[in-house]
Amino acid sequence: MSRPAIRMCARCERTTTEPVLVSEIHSASGPGFNVYACAECAEHYPPLPDVLELLTEQAP
Ligand SMILES: [Zn+2]
Repeated sequence: MSRPAIRMCARCERTTTEPVLVSEIHSASGPGFNVYACAECAEHYPPLPDVLELLTEQAP
């Protein structure tokens, strides 16, 4: 099973054959999903939040 290489850019809403993962949405009530942007828009996204770091900060 091959994954489709085409994703819709979350910023310009155009499809891109070179999707860049810009965000990971985690949901407590269901599976999370990834947000992709095209290479051009990805430059305008902030770096991915460090989820592991956030979890660590919550530890006592
Ligand atoms: Zn785009």
